[in-house]
Amino acid sequence: MTIRNATPTKPATTRSILCDVHTHTLFSRHAYSTIEENVRQAAEVGLELLGSADHFSDMLFPTPDVRNFQYLFGVGSWPDTWHGVRLLHACEADIVDLKGRLFGWDVAYMREMTGAPFADSSHHGSAVDERGIITLKDLVFSKCDYVIASIHNHDWADCAPISVTTDMYIHALEDPKVLIVGHPGRAGVPFDIDALLEAAKDMGKLIEINEHSFDGGMGDSWGICKQIAIRCAELGVGVCVNSDAHIAPAIGLYGNVCKMLDEIDFPQELIMNRDAATFLATRDAALAK
Ligand SMILES: [Zn+2]
Ligand SMILES: [Zn+2]
Repeated sequence: MTIRNATPTKPATTRSILCDVHTHTLFSRHAYSTIEENVRQAAEVGLELLGSADHFSDMLFPTPDVRNFQYLFGVGSWPDTWHGVRLLHACEADIVDLKGRLFGWDVAYMREMTGAPFADSSHHGSAVDERGIITLKDLVFSKCDYVIASIHNHDWADCAPISVTTDMYIHALEDPKVLIVGHPGRAGVPFDIDALLEAAKDMGKLIEINEHSFDGGMGDSWGICKQIAIRCAELGVGVCVNSDAHIAPAIGLYGNVCKMLDEIDFPQELIMNRDAATFLATRDAALAK
């Protein structure tokens, strides 16, 4: 008999990774837990820090109206620490073109969340860009502690040369708020692994090894993730190991990634979310540059 929805278990590992910084709440629409349910689960499994990173993407709504993304604005009400867990607010922003631009870059923020005409930019703490406008992307990023840049729909990248897709990832990583390239091993867009890793190392930014990539049904993502991890170890590039949980019981579970990292004897000191102090120092150094 198959038991559906059995509680996930961790394969045995000696690794301690105390920050899960890529998790989703029900605001991602295909995720199912509240922020408090996620925080409680993080406390339950002994995490020091939880990063909540809901999708900032056109997969959620057909039109990029600012009102559809207000779940990413009102985060001033979030406690810094909740149930004993340090809580950070982030988003997982889609890379949307071969220039590495991020979702919302081309959406002018013209109206308040109420729908009233946008009157005063100053109180949003978001700078106008070189075109003299505030974009939805800059507004959302101004409220984030860090951003994960990921590819989901990649129709626009199919058949693009490797040199172009590599520059795309590097440009996305150059955004001042982007700290992490999300699940590049399963995005379905080939790139020059060493070139991206070297660029990330120069910027002090991180390559994600994502538990979701080991779920199966995603081509050779497992093999690509392993190849990326091996080169990160050889080149001394920092990684971030995350659950990408879409429901509370998956918070802090990265057993399949840890099993792979154990197999290749991956250095623990390159896992930059291994504890809260290390992750916060990495974030501060990378995003201050
Ligand atoms: Zn993703
Ligand atoms: Zn995600």
